[in-house]
Amino acid sequence: MNMVYNFSAGPAMIPIDVLDQAQKELKNWNQLGSSIMEISHRSEEFIQVALEAEKDLRDLLKIPDSFKVLFCQGGARGQFSAVPMNLLNHSFSKTADYINTGYWSNCALIEAKKYCIPSSIHIKKTTNEIISLLPISQWNINKNSAYIHYCPNETIEGLSIYEEPSFDNKIIIGDFSSFILSRSININNYDLIYAGAQKNIGPAGITIIIIRDKLIKCSSNISPSILDYQKISQHNSMFNTPPTFAWYLSGLVFKWLKKQGGLKKIQILNTKKSNLLYQKIDDSEFYINRIDKKNRSQMNVVFHLINPKLNNIFLKEAHDLGLTSLKGHCIIGGMRASLYNAMPLEGVKSLVRFMSYFENRYG
Ligand SMILES: *Cc1c(COP(=O)(O)O)cnc(C)c1O
Repeated sequence: MNMVYNFSAGPAMIPIDVLDQAQKELKNWNQLGSSIMEISHRSEEFIQVALEAEKDLRDLLKIPDSFKVLFCQGGARGQFSAVPMNLLNHSFSKTADYINTGYWSNCALIEAKKYCIPSSIHIKKTTNEIISLLPISQWNINKNSAYIHYCPNETIEGLSIYEEPSFDNKIIIGDFSSFILSRSININNYDLIYAGAQKNIGPAGITIIIIRDKLIKCSSNISPSILDYQKISQHNSMFNTPPTFAWYLSGLVFKWLKKQGGLKKIQILNTKKSNLLYQKIDDSEFYINRIDKKNRSQMNVVFHLINPKLNNIFLKEAHDLGLTSLKGHCIIGGMRASLYNAMPLEGVKSLVRFMSYFENRYG
């Protein structure tokens, strides 16, 4: 089979080396004569896997000891509920600030309305048809909000915030689902970040939460136990049976990232990959992206063909060449190339070559 480069936004590519290793040890993991899916999550062997995954993630993101790492279920959408349920201490009259940048941050806001009175803070503006996001210093934060929730990478629109938040005495929550591990960040600038695994970590089914210790201590008990930060933490992320295979595979991805040289190296590569594609778009009059350079996502590159009648031929010809899942989300249309860590530079080069060919043929 020819190499396939899968540009899916999630579930997305997993490094080929990781898949090879998982395949090699699938039926006889760790010389136990069974797969890792078939052993107890409470076994010594699995607990070792869980501890190593946490340690490697801590090394990669330089997570200080004052933060806990929780592995749980329910996806990022589960956290849209868990965050207000845990952090508002029964006070339904409290307000929380939701920075509204696109589809996912808006979904978080809608879910929060069940638990509090969120304010929607709009920071998107369009000048001469170019979309940009206001710098953090211009966000119109409410003085008495219980926390600020934002999404540094809007997976569907391809919009990013690279600036890190810095507010005095504010709890900062980030939906990092399609941003986590794509670059190095300073965890101390946040109080809680969460991410579903299926974008830039591993298989769907596991959700990672990095949370400041002192926030766990004041989480409320109205949450369902499986979303209760205190309970999850007290049970070392094993209050209910965890998605063991997804946990194991995520651990392999963390080791792979360390082998690539860690997040500084990954960040350089991600910049290179996305620059290559944005350059191709900007150099042509056939493709277009209308996002301010400072807010362009390195993970999800959204672009349109000037002539949308060619969309289906573009998708078909790309697919026939092994460049798959390029169709944009239906609310935006056009194309979207997701360039998560597992997408090799060669995949982006192939896409760019194909785009040049396609432009010459149909332009
Ligand atoms: C994919 C995604 C979600 C939804 O994740 P689930 O795991 O399906 O709940 C939420 N936020 C962002 C930014 C995403 O990219």
